[in-house]
Amino acid sequence: VAKNPAQPEFHQAVKEVLESLRVVIEANEEKYRKDALLERLVTPERQILFRVPWVDDKGQVQVNNGFRVQFNSAIGPYKGGLRLHPSVNLGIIKFLGFEQTFKNSLTGLPIGGGKGGSDFDPKGKSDREIMAFCQSFITELYKYIGADTDVPAGDIGTGAREIGYMYGQYKRLTGLYEGVLTGKGLSYGGSLARTEATGYGLLYLTEEMLKCNGKDIAGKTVAVSGAGNVAIYAIQKAEQLGAKVVTCSDSTGWIYDPEGIDVALLQEVKEVKRARLTEYAAARPSAQYHEKKNGEHGVWTVKCDVALPCATQNELDLEDAKQLVANGVFAVAEGANMPTTMEATEYFQKNGVLFCPGKASNAGGVATSALEMSQNSERLSWTFEEVDAKLKTIMVNIFHNLDDAAKKYGMEGNYVAGANIAGFLKVADAMTAQGIV
Ligand code: NDP
Repeated sequence: VAKNPAQPEFHQAVKEVLESLRVVIEANEEKYRKDALLERLVTPERQILFRVPWVDDKGQVQVNNGFRVQFNSAIGPYKGGLRLHPSVNLGIIKFLGFEQTFKNSLTGLPIGGGKGGSDFDPKGKSDREIMAFCQSFITELYKYIGADTDVPAGDIGTGAREIGYMYGQYKRLTGLYEGVLTGKGLSYGGSLARTEATGYGLLYLTEEMLKCNGKDIAGKTVAVSGAGNVAIYAIQKAEQLGAKVVTCSDSTGWIYDPEGIDVALLQEVKEVKRARLTEYAAARPSAQYHEKKNGEHGVWTVKCDVALPCATQNELDLEDAKQLVANGVFAVAEGANMPTTMEATEYFQKNGVLFCPGKASNAGGVATSALEMSQNSERLSWTFEEVDAKLKTIMVNIFHNLDDAAKKYGMEGNYVAGANIAGFLKVADAMTAQGIV
């Protein structure tokens, strides 16, 4: 904490991981304490902080902060998204990069951990302003990324449009047509099923977790938060698997739709019009819209069997967890990164709720990004069905890896510990083998 002041999200992520590694470390102190392995693991290899000046539509110069944290390259090139949101700061990017290292390891694919972004707020900006920002951002960042070194992707606020502008600028600056970014459009090297991957992957893993615990997602009531990329495709896949999803939310309000969320309408409102959820409610008689109010618990007050937080970090706290348990929730799987506070996570675990952390359950996005990198290297495009089938296999394997790791270390059913341990072992082995670097 003294070395990294004022980074509460980073401290939270490190604490959670190290707590659950305690049993592994104690079982093999000599190996894991040697050569400051843990100190190196929690210290990013490189942190790049830069100025992003751009000109708005009124001709005024605006200045934002740009970040790229290259956390760990022990098992592959740095890989992780770019977040564009006014709340972005170094501590948030470090927490995300740290988590990404374990997540990427869990996928079984050769990708290291990184994360980046800016405190730029894309909301209300014109297309030209978005392009001006993205071009300026890449004009600095291009020096540090590349298909074999660091491959950024989307995250909150960074979708296909932003990736397109960034890719165009990278190509202009370097003259290279290479897989330096993932989440690209299909006409220039993107992968089919990447858009759907995080949400679909979340449901493939949830389905497997339920199956292994004698339950079935079909016929269940599901509460989802968020209305962005992860939430939309989580809702779509949950409904395809026979569940009824009754909520979604954005940063200004939330929807309760007892007849089940109409995904096509939600896509129209969010992906096409980029509008608020009030427009969903206006077009759907069964939907109730609630304004977001401080101190109120939004979607987590709704009775459900399964909760899937898919918006942002620390959006589900202890009070929410108590409410969900009182309402009979039996499974929670994180679509967002660290959406559940530590106290809420512990409460779920103590009350017998199946709980899967985001570093496992939302790994489908980065896994499919790695599949996009493979296709770019091969200069081939796989079909939607091929990518989707690989994604499903990866998610099922991730669940079994963390389930096995938890069992091996005497923590059966503790999927948080299982994910941290399984992710850690591969990275730690690779770091040890590569010496003190
Ligand atoms: P999007 O920007 O597409 O959507 C984010 C959604 O969450 C929006 O509906 C947004 O509302 C809402 N939201 C954001 N901040 C808040 C807040 N403070 N309170 C309430 N709602 C909020 O992002 P993604 O769907 O891509 O990402 C969501 C989460 O999933 C993030 O934690 C991200 O790191 C994680 N993730 C994403 C992956 C991906 O492939 N996209 C992969 C793995 C993890 P509004 O539109 O009003 O801002």
